[in-house]
Amino acid sequence: MSTSAAASSGHARLQSGTGAYDVEAVRRRFPILERRINGHPLVYLDSAATTQKPLDVLDAMDAFHREKNANVHRGVHTLSVEATEVYEAARDKVRRLLGASRPEEIVFLRGVTEAMNLVAQSWGRANVRAGDEILITHMEHHSNIVPWQMLCEQTGATLKVAPVDDRGEVILDAFEKLLNERTKIAAFVHISNALGTVNPVHEMARMSKQVGAIVVIDGAQATPHEKVDVRGIGCDFYAISGHKMYAPTGIGALYGRHELLEAMPPWQGGGDMILSVTFEGTTYNVPPQKFEAGTPNIAGAVALGAAVDFLDGIGLDRIGAHESAVLERMASALREIPGLRLIGEPGRRAGSVSFVVDEVHPHDLGTVVDQEGVAIRTGHHCAQPLMERFGVPATARASIGVYNREADIEALVSAIRKAIEIFS
Ligand code: PMP
Repeated sequence: MSTSAAASSGHARLQSGTGAYDVEAVRRRFPILERRINGHPLVYLDSAATTQKPLDVLDAMDAFHREKNANVHRGVHTLSVEATEVYEAARDKVRRLLGASRPEEIVFLRGVTEAMNLVAQSWGRANVRAGDEILITHMEHHSNIVPWQMLCEQTGATLKVAPVDDRGEVILDAFEKLLNERTKIAAFVHISNALGTVNPVHEMARMSKQVGAIVVIDGAQATPHEKVDVRGIGCDFYAISGHKMYAPTGIGALYGRHELLEAMPPWQGGGDMILSVTFEGTTYNVPPQKFEAGTPNIAGAVALGAAVDFLDGIGLDRIGAHESAVLERMASALREIPGLRLIGEPGRRAGSVSFVVDEVHPHDLGTVVDQEGVAIRTGHHCAQPLMERFGVPATARASIGVYNREADIEALVSAIRKAIEIFS
């Protein structure tokens, strides 16, 4: 059987499964899980940094290059028309994933970082003035801090930060109190990459809308774990990252309400974002092309579409149920290790658990568990202010995806115990 035939028959198997979650069938979709690391089977617990890629995505990307590769939008030849069709079909899949009403509301970009910079530099530069305020939270990834700091420097606006409590949850009363008629933008993370906290984004969006702020959500860690509905949340912008949801690096998307995208100035100039160019002046294209200057990451977009199909094929509800069971079990197993402390004990958690171990630096811990084949992340997770809030320079973080299972928890716990033995 060819790889693609195997892929499609496997896909059909996953799709037909409505009963118990078959983690072994899911794992067979991921060739990299067959690797051995330092003599041990790979135990991949770093999906919050980047997920592994299933055959469905690898094959879609390969098939695009083999069968349809051409540049999009400009050609009349057959391949260009076909490439445009699959690129635009991928846009519609992302629209469906996020519950947006029209494909024009989906802009393909490199990822969340680029999306936040686009909103800051386009909507922000056009609408934010000296004396205005931008509200974020203390648990943001640097990509949802620095673009707003830059916008504040450029405009004279002020950055406000809603505090986080000891459990690792945004203090909602304080968030609400920080909102006022000067707040132009409220930008916050849906699910924290550093703590695993699932924020009450509906509530936070509602509060922000009451003062007329636009709501920008960092959904990097949300789309792989739960069904997102941008209209239900009531946000204006929602940024996602392909590589966190089983697609390759270098592709992501920004949902923006059509009315806002239409009114916003472009942020990068070049091909494709124009209707006509003369030396006297240029007429810009309509959204989303207005924000997609230059040849886009066509194969990446196609692969992102395949990742959406992959998630749909299993079902995000089933993924959510399986992953919460694994994560809960992992958090309990970690709590039982003497000298280990979880950083953040939020009421709702998805994706990640962060922790520190007495006497063992997170980097040493990461190195020792790697010797056992276990891949975890150690460091500040691009959330230095949050690390400071919890009084630690770094944490170790175990994060999960569709392929993780009970045996991975056992491997993690035993590797951590080994590290503690070495360093005690
Ligand atoms: N926000 C969060 C919560 C993240 O986890 C990440 C990636 N670590 C980012 C933003 C940045 O996303 P990207 O890699 O797509 O730029």
